[in-house]
Amino acid sequence: MKPAPPDNSPLRIWHPFTQAALDPAPLRIVRGEGAHLIREDGSRTVDAISSWWVTLHGHAHPRIAAAVAEQARKLEQVIFAGFTHEPAEELAARLRPWLPADLTHMFFSDDGSTAVEVALKMALQYWSNLGRPERREIIAFEHGYHGDTAGAMSVSDDSPFTAPFAGMRFAVHRAQSASCARCPVGLRRVSCRIECAQSLEKLLEQHGGRVAAVIIEPMVQGAGGMIVHPAEFLQKVREQCTRHDVLLIADEVMTGFGRTGKMFACEHAGIAPDLMCLSKGLTAGFLPMALTIATDRVEAAFRGEDRLRTFFHGHSFTANPLACAAACASLRIFDEEPVFERIASIAQIHTERLAQLREHPAVGDTRGIGTIAAIELRAEDAGYLSSLRPKLYRFFLERGVLLRPLGNVIYLLPPYVIEPDDLHRVHDVVAEAIHTLL
Ligand code: PMP
Repeated sequence: MKPAPPDNSPLRIWHPFTQAALDPAPLRIVRGEGAHLIREDGSRTVDAISSWWVTLHGHAHPRIAAAVAEQARKLEQVIFAGFTHEPAEELAARLRPWLPADLTHMFFSDDGSTAVEVALKMALQYWSNLGRPERREIIAFEHGYHGDTAGAMSVSDDSPFTAPFAGMRFAVHRAQSASCARCPVGLRRVSCRIECAQSLEKLLEQHGGRVAAVIIEPMVQGAGGMIVHPAEFLQKVREQCTRHDVLLIADEVMTGFGRTGKMFACEHAGIAPDLMCLSKGLTAGFLPMALTIATDRVEAAFRGEDRLRTFFHGHSFTANPLACAAACASLRIFDEEPVFERIASIAQIHTERLAQLREHPAVGDTRGIGTIAAIELRAEDAGYLSSLRPKLYRFFLERGVLLRPLGNVIYLLPPYVIEPDDLHRVHDVVAEAIHTLL
């Protein structure tokens, strides 16, 4: 039998993280405004997760939209090898004052995963350029998540996301993370001395001479369940990396640009990494772009007369001028508007509302930092595939709230301009779900 001619079949859209038979049909959004996503019929959904953690100052923010439009009329794209442009230079100048003094060289890529790939490759080539190619191993943390490309999946912890790809993930050493709700060494935060950090210390003692870098999500492990760790843990990680002369990569893809109450999460611990990955909020959620920012010491290893010292990595859209213009406009908003006051008022509402849920028998833990609030529910099938997740997701959507629980962990991560009334309504809907579904 002749197969049906392909021109009869429509081209269907294949959505990420979606199972057509199990998940609600995708909602068609025609407009965004503040923290709202608006449909054709005018109905609104409160975007309580900043559209996968990217939106900062609100959807379709007029100042950012204008900056992108203006740039589009001047220069939409130009190759970035051997060329440069004003929006990239302006971005470097605007970002400089926010960064730790030691981070002096920024390298562009496209998204969080590629920022991580770049950091890993830089770390390996750094040692190779220094004549130490045996330093090629990576240490990452339990519960970590760093993206969906092959290198980023390798450093991410094992999960249903990575299971089919075991064969393409390179091996890493995995240290315990400070997950206080389920302490890996059976202690309590009130009296512990961050003993969990000894796991990294042991790995560094055993393998230090072969390790190129340690990669960490500073202060919050996002996709792993919004696990907030004590600043002292991050300080110990920094100290240990310094002592063993291993590079520290801070993956601030989710935590960067104010999400945790500081511009960058590393500030909570007063530390600076050797390489920092930024994306998501970099363009305030307007366009995909990423940065991997290196210290002078790292970049210096790539300088010289020898061509082979070059970092041979570059994507077609490296430093896209439209994305740079969006990033500059966002940083102007940080300079000129009370962004950190908005962040502080979100944090205050989160704290009040989480306190009301803490004693509920279905709630195992509540935690938060800055604009992030998480409620871990007790579940027999805890984990990303928990049966609670689809029920909760539907429940929230039916009430006009976009929340995508990470398995049995409900979390809020709203744009900074969310109105207090909307934020309270999101918390009300979460409380209603806990009281009615559990
Ligand atoms: N690192 C972290 C910490 C992340 O949370 C994510 C995305 N959730 C990534 C990297 C990957 O970013 P992207 O999805 O833009 O590739």
